[in-house]
Amino acid sequence: MADPRPKTNLLGLSRAQLERFFAEWGEKPFRARQILQWVYQRGVTDFDAMTDLSRALRERLQAETEIIAPGVMSEHRSTDGTVKWIMALPGGSAVETVFIPEPDRGTLCISSQVGCMLNCTFCSTATQGFNRNLGAAEIIGQVWRAAEALGPDRRITNIVLMGMGEPLLNLDQVRPALELMRDDLAYGLAARRVTVSTSGVVPGIDALRDGPGVALAVSLHAPDDDLRTRLVPLNRKYPIEELLAACKRYLADKRPKQSITFEYTMIDGVNDRPEQARELLRVLAHVPSKINLIPFNPFPGTPFKCSSNNAIHRFQDVLRSGGMIATIRKTRGDDIDAACGQLVGKVLSASRRRAVVQEQLARQALA
Ligand code: SAH
Repeated sequence: MADPRPKTNLLGLSRAQLERFFAEWGEKPFRARQILQWVYQRGVTDFDAMTDLSRALRERLQAETEIIAPGVMSEHRSTDGTVKWIMALPGGSAVETVFIPEPDRGTLCISSQVGCMLNCTFCSTATQGFNRNLGAAEIIGQVWRAAEALGPDRRITNIVLMGMGEPLLNLDQVRPALELMRDDLAYGLAARRVTVSTSGVVPGIDALRDGPGVALAVSLHAPDDDLRTRLVPLNRKYPIEELLAACKRYLADKRPKQSITFEYTMIDGVNDRPEQARELLRVLAHVPSKINLIPFNPFPGTPFKCSSNNAIHRFQDVLRSGGMIATIRKTRGDDIDAACGQLVGKVLSASRRRAVVQEQLARQALA
């Protein structure tokens, strides 16, 4: 009869967690290091192929553990080289993972939750509501599966947690995944090549200070609290001043020398006026910052439109002449709905999405 106990998925366990796991089996800590290299550096999940483990250990691992990454439900390739995968999760839900190739790097954008609780009014993920947190295996498993699908010729050099969900509301599961991204025996990425993007969860930013070093991106989108609360309702709880104080605390630690990247989605007639750029300069004057302007990506049912090219460049000019590093994010993969804020995971019909947006706006109006 099969063992009724579920097998432990070793994927997603950090080095320290794996060492503890093997210690309980009476095995030496270096077993953890061997497993990490097999799984993340060589892409091997079959214990039989792990030839530097004893036969007895391989058999026990086979019997009691497994190494399972999310499966690919579908793969979509954009004409610009961007690849989007819909990854299947147990329980029938799905998340999206996007690979964005550039001449000098390959960035993987991964999800941390199925859906999102935050209701940012310009984001399509919000329209699907919140389903659940991803486990660490499902977070790092997106990297594992993407690396497998891309093959050895296209390397993942950067990882951004900018897909579906709010990573700092799932830090318990995000943290071991970040450790594996940084660990030399796993993906070995430098701190500046792993970015956590948050809508501004202040306690999460503080909690991240004792994790592995990573770059922080903050979704700001507005220079004042009134407007930011309309775009990012979480601002009511953690207004701009508190958010920026948390950013400074984050930078004050012994991180690699860095600044915070502030993401600013450019929405026509809402947050794209030159005086708003000037206000942004004032607000960010005391935080080492870069600003990444993101052209708004429309989705069915949204009342918002993308700022004109002119408005985006004018905004950038104001920021630059104030001494700020300001870049404009190139929109990639929009022919496959892989662009920022277009990730919906479970496919909702356009009419359902429209209805959800209407509901959201009505709730906002009442709030
Ligand atoms: N919850 C995290 C990470 C996911 S969003 C966060 O808020 O940072 C990743 C980035 O895409 C955020 O800056 C988000 O504000 C932006 N974004 C969301 N919807 C967008 C849209 N429709 N067009 C352009 N950018 C969008």
